[in-house]
Amino acid sequence: MIFLVILFAPGAIQGQTQPSPAAQVARLSLGLNAGWTRLVLEADRPLNASLSNAPGGLDLELRLENARLALPAAQQLAAGVVEQLESPARGDRLHLRLLDAAVVDRAFLLPPQGGQGHRLVIDLLPADPAAFVAAFAGQVALPLTLVPVTPAPHAGSQPGRDGRKLILLDPGHGGYDPGAISASGRYEKDLTLAVAQALARKLRATGRYRVVLTRDRDKAVKLAERMELARQREADLFLSIHADSLAADRATRGASIYTRADDATDREAEALALRENRADQLADSGHAADVDDVVAILLDLASRDTPRLSRRFAGLLAGAVAEQGLPLRRNGLRAANFKVLSAPDIPSVLLELGYLSNPSEEAMLFSETGRSQLAEAVAEAIDRFFGAPSAP
Ligand code: ZN
Repeated sequence: MIFLVILFAPGAIQGQTQPSPAAQVARLSLGLNAGWTRLVLEADRPLNASLSNAPGGLDLELRLENARLALPAAQQLAAGVVEQLESPARGDRLHLRLLDAAVVDRAFLLPPQGGQGHRLVIDLLPADPAAFVAAFAGQVALPLTLVPVTPAPHAGSQPGRDGRKLILLDPGHGGYDPGAISASGRYEKDLTLAVAQALARKLRATGRYRVVLTRDRDKAVKLAERMELARQREADLFLSIHADSLAADRATRGASIYTRADDATDREAEALALRENRADQLADSGHAADVDDVVAILLDLASRDTPRLSRRFAGLLAGAVAEQGLPLRRNGLRAANFKVLSAPDIPSVLLELGYLSNPSEEAMLFSETGRSQLAEAVAEAIDRFFGAPSAP
C-alpha cells in the first residue's frame, strides 16, 4: 500500500498581506520508529522549518520559520542516529549531533488529533556519507512538500534476507540503571550482558541465525527503543534477559519465563513487571520514547498469532532450562504487562535467569559454567522453536 500525503503551505492559503503570528513549539520528542529516527515538534499551528549542516561534521541545525520554542525546559534527547539533540527552552533553533551520516527520508505535517497539536514529523534514515553531503548541500526545507508514505519496512518476509532467522537479544538494564543488585554487590546489568554475549556467540556459531543485541556495552537503552529495534530489524524472535532479586528472601532460586499479558497471572509477576518497567522512569530524557501516536497511523500489523508463538517459545525454553539441570521456579511460566515485550508482530519472551539475592545462585549465574549452561538451554529452545536439527 502506497499513498500520498499532500501538504499545504500555510502562507499560500492565508495570503501575504497578513503575516500569521509566530507558532509556539510546546513539545519535542525523539525516538526510534521502525527504521527511522523520528523527531516530532508539536505546536499550536502548522510549522515550517529548515535543516542545514554545519560544515565539516555531522552536526545539523534545525531553524524554525515564524515559530518559537516554548518548552518547559531546555532539552537534551538522544535516540537512533541522533547522538544528541540540544534544544533551549526558548529561541528558534535546535542542534542535532548525529552518530552517523543520515538524510531526511520524510518530513510531513500531522493535523491536531487526540489532544495533540499540529505536528511536524521528521524522519531521518542512516545513509552513506556521500548522500549526507549531497542532501545537505543546501538548506532542506521542512516539511518536504509532497511525501510518498510507504508502510514501515518490517512487514515480515522482505526480499534480501538470507533465510537465516534473526534473533534479537535484549540484555536488560545498562548505563545508569544497574537493575537488581546481588547480595555481594554485583549488578544485574553486567550479568544480562555477559549471558547475552555468550548466547550470541553460540547462536552465531551454528550458522543458522543472525543475532542482534539491543546493547553490546554498558549503556542505557529505553524499553521502547529495544522493542523498536526488533521491529526495525524484522526480528523473528525477541528475548529479553534479566535476573531478579528478593531482598527479604535469600532462599528463593530458579529461572522464570514470562510472556506479555494485560492481566498478570499473579501478584509476584505483576510486581516484577512494575520493577522492570521502571527502567524508563530512571531516564530523564523527556519524551524520547513517546512516538507511538505517530507510529499508529503508519502501522497496523499486529499479528493474532504473536501471543501464541510467544507462549510456545516460553514453553520450549522452560523445557530446555529444566533439561540442562538448571533450577526453574515452580510456576516458572507466567505473564505480566512487560513494556519491553509489547511488539505486536514479534514473538517476545522475557527470561529471568535466577535470583541474585540467593548467594549460591549468584555464584552460579556469574560463573563460566552457569553462563554456558544458560546459553546452551536458550540455544536449544531456539533450535526447537524454529525446527532446526538439534546440535549433535
Ligand atoms: Zn531486570
